[in-house]
Parts: sequence; structure tokens; C-alpha cells
Amino acid sequence: MQVNWRTIKGTNNSYAALYAACELYGIHLEAVDRPAAEITCYSLNSIIEPHFRDEIRDADCITVVGGPHATACPGEVCTYADYAVIGEGERTLPLLLERLRDGTTAPPPGVATAHTVRPADSCVRLDAFAPFSKVRGYIEISRGCPYGCTYCQTPRMFGRSMRHRSIDAVARAASCYRDARFISPNAFAYGSDGIHPRFEKLERLLRALDNAVYLATFPSEVRPEFVTPESLDLVCRYCANRKVHFGAQSGSDGVLAAIRRGHSVADVIRAVELCREFDLVPVVDVIVGFPCETEEDQRATLELVEWVARYGQVHAHHFTPLPGTPLAGQPPGPILPETQKTLGRLALKGKATGSWIAPEARFFKKN
Ligand code: SF4
Repeated sequence: MQVNWRTIKGTNNSYAALYAACELYGIHLEAVDRPAAEITCYSLNSIIEPHFRDEIRDADCITVVGGPHATACPGEVCTYADYAVIGEGERTLPLLLERLRDGTTAPPPGVATAHTVRPADSCVRLDAFAPFSKVRGYIEISRGCPYGCTYCQTPRMFGRSMRHRSIDAVARAASCYRDARFISPNAFAYGSDGIHPRFEKLERLLRALDNAVYLATFPSEVRPEFVTPESLDLVCRYCANRKVHFGAQSGSDGVLAAIRRGHSVADVIRAVELCREFDLVPVVDVIVGFPCETEEDQRATLELVEWVARYGQVHAHHFTPLPGTPLAGQPPGPILPETQKTLGRLALKGKATGSWIAPEARFFKKN
């Protein structure tokens, strides 16, 4: 049985993890740049999904779609694809592929078709699956998030309890690299419940690695209230990065409460100041255009952006209503002309990056 993986910018990490998982079941995922016989698998987020609907609908093979969009909208995906994988794919995708190989049509738990939806009946233990094998990817150290930010698909896809890869398993994966980069919803929360830091566990992990470690920077950003003297001391002692990337999202406490971020603007300011004390460069995420955001709120965010840019960098996005989240279907608010102007000016100085004009641009721009 020939099984293919449709390569799409931004989905390499899913390919790496699922390649390794399928390998355990004796299934090889061949990379292709268009659908091909007999089966082609996709991972789609909700921003790029509309661009692939026609391709999948017209494909002359069995199509399987997973990722955040299929998890949020399995019924919609099954109007053009044969199967939607709901939630984590490491166990579900190989089980589905095995059934297809054996000629069984009944889908396993965690799979939807046009006729049936079977919710997932388990969640993945990270140590049961290597983060990658032949197809290399970043090392996912933690999965799941106890917070419930109303714009974010992560806790809806991976659950609200944080799971961690063991130190031995992380070290084994890291031994394949000179530099180690991690994936986590909050890298400073390694070993903890995601709310109460366990920095002694994080230190044990860092001590076990011989690599040049990049932590709390892309792709393992952190939450601002986890930016503390203890966590920054660990970065300075064990890590190669001199930037610390965390999410502020808004400069308005009203907006932060409405989107259930679970921290305040003061937490963000404290985190930036601590980075300065430790001689680290803060990189701060903001989102403009939340549906609840007033012009005054957006100006407060702009003020925060200008202040952060004096000491570090800003990563800005225009709000995107993602399916499966409490803000699904709510149109983004406008970006004020002064916001456009300020972000544009900061971008020219290398102080602002992001996709506040066209969110899908980062998935389609040329390498
Ligand atoms: S934005 Fe971050 S902290 Fe909030 S729910 Fe998503 S992963 Fe968790």
C-alpha cells in the first residue's frame, strides 16, 4: 500500500512526528507535492485549509486530513476528504492506515467520515512515540495547556492537562542534533502542571543535554508570568539563545480578562524588565483586532508595543477567528491606521515581525 504525505510549508513537524509513528506500524509516509495513489495524508490548520479544499476534493486517491482544522471541523472536512483525523495523530493515523490496508472500512476511534464521527478514546503518552526519526523535526517536550485563551486551538486539540516527554527521551532525541530546539505551549512549564512552575525539573532537563539548547525562544515560547529570575537564570546558565519570546497579546487588562489569558499587563511589563536585568532580548507577541477590543484598547496595545520595541522586538498578528475556539466565527476588528503605521515603521527598523496584514502569508511565502 502506497501512503503519501502532502508537503505543505509549516507542517514539517507534523510530518516528522507522524512519519516516526507510522514507522512503528511498518508504514512508510512518502513525501509528495500533490496527491498521489493510493492514499495521501494532509495536516491543515484553519488558515491554509481553504487553499487545499479543491485539491483534496479532486484527488484521485483516498485522502486523510488531520491537524487543527480537521479536529475542529471534522464534518466539514469530510465533505471533501475521505477521512478526518480528530486530535492527536500518532496512534490514530497508523490505526486508520492499518484498517485501510486490511480492507476494513470501519474507522478507528478519533476518525470521522461523511457517515460517522468516532471521538478519540485516548490521548498520547509522549514517551510512547519518538518526536522524529528519519524525517527530522523539533523536539516536542510538552503537550496540552491548562489555560483556555479564547482564541487558541491548542487546549481544544491537546487537552488542558499538560503532559511531558521524559528527560531521557528528550536527551535521546537531542543527541541527533548539535543544537536542540523544542516545541511546547510554555517551555518554562516543563515538568509542571502548567500553572505552578517546577524549575528544578526544567534544570534537570537542561543539565542532561550536551547540546547548544534554545529554550523559551522559537518554537518554544513561554507565558509572561513564568519569566522570573529563576527561569531567566536557567536560560543564562544553560542555553545558547539571548532572546526570550513570550505572549502579551494585548496592552489592555480588559481585553486580557475577556480573552481569558490569565495574566495582566503588569506581568508583561515585569517580564520585559526582568529580561533587561538579565541582559536578554524580549520578543513579545501581540494580537490586534480581537472582537471585544475597543479603539482605546488597541491604542493601549500600541503603547505597549512602542515600549517593548525600545528594549526588544514585537511579533504582531491580526486576530483570526479559529474554529473550535470560543471566538470562532467572530469577525476580527479593524486595525487602526496608526497601528498599521507604527507596526510598519517598527518593521522597517527590524523591531516588528508578524502577519498583521495577511495571516496566510507565512505559509505560502517562498523559502
Ligand atoms: S495561547 Fe498559549 S497559554 Fe493560551 S491556551 Fe493557547 S497555548 Fe495555552
